[in-house]
Amino acid sequence: MTTKQFKAESKRLLDLMVNSIYTHKEIFLRELISNASDAIDKIYYKALTDDSLSFEKDNYFIKIDIDKDERTLKISDAGIGMTKEALEDNLGVIAKSGSFAFKKENEIKDGHDIIGQFGVGFYSAFMVADNVTVISKALGSDEAYKWESDGIEGYTIEPCEKDSVGTVIILKLKENTEDENFDEYLEEYRLKSIVKKYSDFVRYPIKMDITER
Ligand code: ADP
Ligand code: MG
Repeated sequence: MTTKQFKAESKRLLDLMVNSIYTHKEIFLRELISNASDAIDKIYYKALTDDSLSFEKDNYFIKIDIDKDERTLKISDAGIGMTKEALEDNLGVIAKSGSFAFKKENEIKDGHDIIGQFGVGFYSAFMVADNVTVISKALGSDEAYKWESDGIEGYTIEPCEKDSVGTVIILKLKENTEDENFDEYLEEYRLKSIVKKYSDFVRYPIKMDITER
């Protein structure tokens, strides 16, 4: 399996985000939830013009699974999913260098709220995780693919098994350091408060499940 390199521009932005200045790391959850919601919306829009598709809003939700022993957080949706090409195009390249340039030009030190607006939301996952796996099956496709990255050098993509259309994002949380505690993102009350703070407006229910052995 070959590892594809992130573009130089992407590496710089990634480095900036991950090691940064960016104090509100908790917003990674908002970004992943809004992507999941967007993916469900895309099915809705497709169904408007495609008679072979039906969209029952009540069947759609966003699921957060916490595994305390594995130290993983899983965000799942039954949205439109991504083909191999979409995984490459959307996750392999950080959306231009919009935020990087913007912050530099405006000498922004804090970086508040810029991430979402500039469409680099997905990468915020690497602020709290040192490994991110994306398993996805696109609408209308028989194949599923697994994208995986440490967020530093590059990523791998390989075929995998997934029964239903949609996307699962698995974050392996970083180890705690003296300055930072990542275990907090395995606490149900903490995640619930982040969801309430940033994702209250999301049109689909957000369900949470916790595993502890
Ligand atoms: P933005 O949401 O602003 O486009 P992101 O970095 O958050 O930027 O996401 C990049 C792209 O990756 C999205 O535009 C979308 O095409 C794809 N993507 C991310 N998460 C999902 C998901 N859960 N389901 C389907 N596509 C996704
Ligand atoms: Mg987004």
